[in-house]
Amino acid sequence: MAPIPGSGLAKGLAVTLRTMTRKSVTEQYPDAQPELPPRTRGVIGLFEENCTVCMLCARECPDWCIYIDSHKETVPPAAPGGRERSRNVLDRFAIDFSLCMYCGICIEVCPFDALFWSPEFEYAETDIHELTHERDKLREWMWTVPAPPALDAGAEEPKEIAAARKTAEKLAAAQAEPQEGES
Ligand code: SF4
Ligand code: SF4
Repeated sequence: MAPIPGSGLAKGLAVTLRTMTRKSVTEQYPDAQPELPPRTRGVIGLFEENCTVCMLCARECPDWCIYIDSHKETVPPAAPGGRERSRNVLDRFAIDFSLCMYCGICIEVCPFDALFWSPEFEYAETDIHELTHERDKLREWMWTVPAPPALDAGAEEPKEIAAARKTAEKLAAAQAEPQEGES
């Protein structure tokens, strides 16, 4: 059966009318900033103080886009007569975000909580080389990492906090005790 003349136009107009009455999903970025979930995978921050240069993140990264350089340093013995120890000192820590696929494996495997997700995403560059963020820049991203979610009510206290609290209580008790010779 031949189509009724003008039916195609009517269908098209019906679609236009239907769409015009719906709420628009387009956001006027950058004038309107998107509301992102707090755990959005935007960029990776490095908490350098926690990094022991164990290399686990670099080895597990599927894209091989974490670059770490380090050297060994000898540390004097903790107690007199003890043995000298050696430790790794970080020289370079960089992530190439032009290769990173935001899988989060590096953050998951870090045994020392040195890597964190930040929701920041506005770091586009016109030069691809600028997407390799060196340690200073990765450190700066730490300021944009949201605080961890609060513990559930009634949850067990984290063991690090419990240990620190016990030490602080012992110190306070020792200071409160009257010194020998004091009345
Ligand atoms: S998020 Fe994934 S791809 Fe990106 S640096 Fe970490 S491990 Fe590599
Ligand atoms: S896994 Fe963590 S501690 Fe080990 S090198 Fe990477 S960031 Fe540093």
